[in-house]
Amino acid sequence: MSQTSLGPGGARRLLKRLRDLMAGGGSAQERLNQTVRIIAGDMVAEVCSIYMARPGDVLELVATEGLKQEAVHKTRLAIGEGLVGDIAAHARPLALADAQAHPLFAYKPETGEESFHSLMGVPVLRGGRVLGVLVVQNRSFREYDEEEVEALQTIAMVLAELAASDSLFGPPGAALESVALLPERLEGLKLNEGLAMGRVVMHQPRVTIRQMVAEDPARERARLEAAVEGMHSAIDDLLARADIGHAGEHREILETYRMFAEDRGWLGRIGEAINAGLTAEAAVQRVQDDTRARMHQITDPYLRERLADLEDLGNRLLRHLTGDRTAAQGGSLPEDAVLVARSMGPAELLDYDRSRLRAIALEEGSPTAHVAIVARALGLPMVGRVKDLLSLVAPDERIIVDGESGVVVLRPSEEVRDAVSAAIAARQARQAQYARIRDLPALSRDGVETTMLVNAGLLVDLDQLAPTGAAGVGLYRTEIPFMVRSSFPDVAAQADFYREVLARAAGRPVVFRTLDVGGDKRLPYLEMADDENPAMGWRAIRIALDRPMMLRQQLRALLLASSGRPLDIMFPMIADVAEFDAAKDLLRRERERLEARGIEGPSELRAGTMLEVPSLALQLPALLGRVDFVSVGSNDLMQFLFACDRGSTRLSGRYDVLSPAALRFLAEVARAANARGVPLTLCGEMAGRPLEALALAALGFRRLSMAPSAIGPVKAMLRSADIGATGRYLGGLLDLPDRSLRGRLRAFARDRGIAV
Ligand code: PEP
Ligand code: MG
Repeated sequence: MSQTSLGPGGARRLLKRLRDLMAGGGSAQERLNQTVRIIAGDMVAEVCSIYMARPGDVLELVATEGLKQEAVHKTRLAIGEGLVGDIAAHARPLALADAQAHPLFAYKPETGEESFHSLMGVPVLRGGRVLGVLVVQNRSFREYDEEEVEALQTIAMVLAELAASDSLFGPPGAALESVALLPERLEGLKLNEGLAMGRVVMHQPRVTIRQMVAEDPARERARLEAAVEGMHSAIDDLLARADIGHAGEHREILETYRMFAEDRGWLGRIGEAINAGLTAEAAVQRVQDDTRARMHQITDPYLRERLADLEDLGNRLLRHLTGDRTAAQGGSLPEDAVLVARSMGPAELLDYDRSRLRAIALEEGSPTAHVAIVARALGLPMVGRVKDLLSLVAPDERIIVDGESGVVVLRPSEEVRDAVSAAIAARQARQAQYARIRDLPALSRDGVETTMLVNAGLLVDLDQLAPTGAAGVGLYRTEIPFMVRSSFPDVAAQADFYREVLARAAGRPVVFRTLDVGGDKRLPYLEMADDENPAMGWRAIRIALDRPMMLRQQLRALLLASSGRPLDIMFPMIADVAEFDAAKDLLRRERERLEARGIEGPSELRAGTMLEVPSLALQLPALLGRVDFVSVGSNDLMQFLFACDRGSTRLSGRYDVLSPAALRFLAEVARAANARGVPLTLCGEMAGRPLEALALAALGFRRLSMAPSAIGPVKAMLRSADIGATGRYLGGLLDLPDRSLRGRLRAFARDRGIAV
């Protein structure tokens, strides 16, 4: 049995008393002292203490009932130190009947807490940040139950709100004032390329909630219902808007998002918080805070994405409840707005007037985040995972977002602003130069021609074929449409999608790579193995051959979509020839099946493989006799060749793709493929970098596939190069013991006026 007097009615009464207390007079310290007294009384606890975060990542005891008063403002714990520090570090509650037996217990003699055995503590959260910790303690070995933890969390939330509006824990905005307003360069993760400068618009300054405690829960439930309805119809309006287009993954994302808006579990949790005595908006916020705190602990990218969608919906719902619709900021949005947010939902981004947006910078975010996919569809530079961004930036400040290098500059100095303006102008000039050579071949000075292809993964990428003048799509990554859906698309849906891809390619060839999922690319509806080493685990063709139905359906859809047109299919992560044979056999059977039913298939069918696992290169004679083409995936190939995680920033400078080892490997693949007359492409990141592309051309690669934005620079380089001379120079270096040939090759190129 719970020892607390707090039932739902009790909780409401307590919240009301706290609110009245805050509204009353007295110094902040007096009100804090009364607060802990009231909470201790209501929770039937001998101790109630509040610890607040202070600069330098420490928690300070700011008020206590039950511990020694001398400890107030003296006892300090580092974040992570002791039980209180642990609650703050993980933003999660702890309830322990025997706290002193816990390995993290840190004894602070000045508090006199040794006589209290049980402890329950919860983080004081606001906007996903830990402001402090609220603790109750009892002399007995008390087992706190879940309801009590919930009740304390609700109280902590009210405290957080009061703190923010009431200067209870120090001057409001103290964190911002303590930061010197100097220029600041912050590193993050590139989420969409491009360079932009503008003024900070804090996406969605938090909706202020005026009333936390409800008088009448039935009325709050009715308000919630009306707001949910209003939100649903607003999302429908958004989906009906013409400018987001009628096809594409971003649309799929929005449809899924609407589905989330009907999530019963989420709405149910909000309902429960209303029953506990909160107003509808306070209840939404309470659930939001929980969601955010959980997000910090979840590493699974798919789940994080779902939670981010829920957060987005929560914000939207709050605006419907409070009638505060200023988010999209209509006329008040500056002409050169750069959105800054912790995270942002895909629909929220679309709420803004695109013509005034320059870029986006987020504290969170990942390349597969839904908002990143929409940003690409809108062509907005974007950088994510910028640590502490929100606490360092203020509205209307100048900001630079460099999506090329993943850097954000706050309050740039005049010189930096001038340099960036010059860089933007130079970029535009280069774009103009690339546009001039768009329809010319990538023909080197000595007459070697390279076929320029783009890598694509979203429908919008195909719209880049014409403006870049690329010959086709060298790598179409098919997994993104699968990743943004909540269930496996059937054959008809897939075929429709591939038809749309081919239509947008307008007759240019497209090499479709079959699903390369697994590793960090998860499908919500497919149970993945929990491999210790996912990049080397159950992924790509390995899943496809173990679950052939998935691959067969995809192949069938591709065959259907390409009816009467040529079709190129490529298999990922092939490690030996037998895997290619097995995959190709499935393709043959699917084709025969269609033919037997009199359905027209492709006019020409070519099957090839990615070469991204080194073992396959040791079977080249057998492989080259069976494939119609080979495409080297240097991203994976190099990580396996050097045993070096491709995503590790710590290792990224350790090995170079322009090392003698890597180049010798690539040279041998090119020599063998060219000798057999098998078309060979390189479609990893290195193809899109001019110096690397020069090396590849020199080694004999005649087809390069890259991000659309790299076509111009690489083509300009190739047109200025003497490939034969470079090949002879590079060939003479492959026996050197150097860890990289980059410096030598760059010097060679510069000496000969090659535009690298
Ligand atoms: C590669 O590995 O180089 C490649 C092109 O495939 P992905 O980057 O999709 O793994
Ligand atoms: Mg790969």
